[in-house]
Amino acid sequence: MYRSQTCGELRSSHIGSEVSLSGWVHKVRDKGFVVWVDLRDRYGLTQLVFDDERTQKELLEKARTLGRETVIKATGQVIERASKNPNIPTGDIELLVSSIEILNDSLVPPFTIEDDTDGGEDIRMKYRYLDIRRNPVKNNLIFRHKVAMEVRKHLSDQGFIEVETPYLIKSTPEGARDFVVPSRMNEGQFYALPQSPQTFKQLLMVGGMDKYFQIVKCFRDEDLRADRQPEFTQIDCEMAFVEQEDVLTAFEGLTKHLLKEIKGLDVADFPRVTYDEAMKRYGNDKPDIRFGMEFGELNDVAQHKEFNVFNSAELVVGIAVPGGNSYTRKEIDKLIDWVKRPQVGAKGMVYCRCNEDGSYKSSVDKFYDQNDLTKWAAVTGAKSGDLILVLSGKEHETRTQLSALRMELAERMGLRKPDEFAPLWVVDFPLLELDEETGHYHAMHHPFTSPKPGQLALLDTDPAAVRANAYDLVLNGNEIGGGSIRIHDKKTQEIMFKHLGFTPEEAKAQFGFLMDAFQYGAPPHGGIAFGLDRLVSILGGQETIRDFIAFPKNNSGRDVMIDAPSPIDDEQLKELNLKLDL
Ligand code: ASP
Repeated sequence: MYRSQTCGELRSSHIGSEVSLSGWVHKVRDKGFVVWVDLRDRYGLTQLVFDDERTQKELLEKARTLGRETVIKATGQVIERASKNPNIPTGDIELLVSSIEILNDSLVPPFTIEDDTDGGEDIRMKYRYLDIRRNPVKNNLIFRHKVAMEVRKHLSDQGFIEVETPYLIKSTPEGARDFVVPSRMNEGQFYALPQSPQTFKQLLMVGGMDKYFQIVKCFRDEDLRADRQPEFTQIDCEMAFVEQEDVLTAFEGLTKHLLKEIKGLDVADFPRVTYDEAMKRYGNDKPDIRFGMEFGELNDVAQHKEFNVFNSAELVVGIAVPGGNSYTRKEIDKLIDWVKRPQVGAKGMVYCRCNEDGSYKSSVDKFYDQNDLTKWAAVTGAKSGDLILVLSGKEHETRTQLSALRMELAERMGLRKPDEFAPLWVVDFPLLELDEETGHYHAMHHPFTSPKPGQLALLDTDPAAVRANAYDLVLNGNEIGGGSIRIHDKKTQEIMFKHLGFTPEEAKAQFGFLMDAFQYGAPPHGGIAFGLDRLVSILGGQETIRDFIAFPKNNSGRDVMIDAPSPIDDEQLKELNLKLDL
């Protein structure tokens, strides 16, 4: 038997008992006449003690030479500690060791196994198994487990059945590239790894499963963006005989359950905004509503004077920065530089100070008088002591720029509090999105999303105006879930594919199986998928999803620990019919 207890278990009630512990040598403190060894496992730390008086000489010598991370089994008697350590749960006791057994040696680890380690990100990723021994990483994985268990518990209680869908499939269009897998047995043919189980969950509805969920890996070969993983985990869900309202209710329920069980929070019913409203008020379809600074559109009150920059702009829009009048001229100039960085892309920024005495001082006083500026303040909701910041230009671009500024300011002002949770639904997304490069429309959500009732005909005349039965769940400025009510009849699905630029043959070759299935009594259905990695990191009050994934890829899509991707040998290439004759 390796252990009678774990390293996190012993208390003063155990004093006097004989126990065995197994774990890793965390630290050795050698005071000459006494040696203390901290023994660590997943559950905690227990102090082992060896001394001149009570320990055999040979054992004391052995303790002295234990290297960090050596795996040992220690047997002895639990005794009361002379000086207690109130910082750890086992701090009242120590183990007076009578024997140790070395279970395995360890090389000196390349970084310290401490909460604050001396190891940088790269080295920790290369030795991720050592990183996982550290509390912050270990606790994140335990936290993730807890969230996943609560998801399973809640959905199962609501009648959802977890069904596994295949990984070796055919392309599912979620807007990214597929990872492909060559088929050895079918020369020249490939599987695609699922970007999501979308088509399968719809087929499960045709199959009468009624309520499905799955905590499932998805794969998307996307260009590198910070904090994206080529493989990630979704809580994927689908329900039959539902309208949008039913889906929102069900998954607001799941989210509330998680906030309650994981964070102990009771949150009110989630507000809902339409996509158009979100863009207008926040310049963003995933607004962070933990703070205000809503957009004020200034066209009406800023385009009547001689200021050409505004007059020639599609949109003039501003925000009021609370207390921002205290910014120095230099600070404001820095903000102007910030919005002019290529990542944001604004050409310039106009500002207006709202003085304590009720007067205004703007960077465009040449054009606008106090009366004008009073109106700017009214539109942006600025109070005395605030600072109004105004951008102008093309509508969509300008909104996006001001949104970036709003988020940056909120971050700097500490308004994005990690322990505050403000979920909301964004609904009524456009069905289609224009690809600026190709000039073609593609599905904003995916091609199986249904248009709002009665809007099918609009596809021919004004495609951009068609709204979808699609919704996102947004939490603290992040899209944590997205879904839609699906098309469930062949004809509509065919029309959709036509508008997305598929020929009937292409549509049949790629999605014939789904349209065939629709002909056998497909029930109305809809669903949603949550990004588990992101959800867990937000609930955990942290920003990076990597910290909540046991073995993440780096920003170049590499696993530096196992060194993947990597070349394969010629023999394997040949077997897969991939040997290129160059
Ligand atoms: N398949 C979609 C996605 O992965 C979610 C859904 O529509 O349920 O984003």
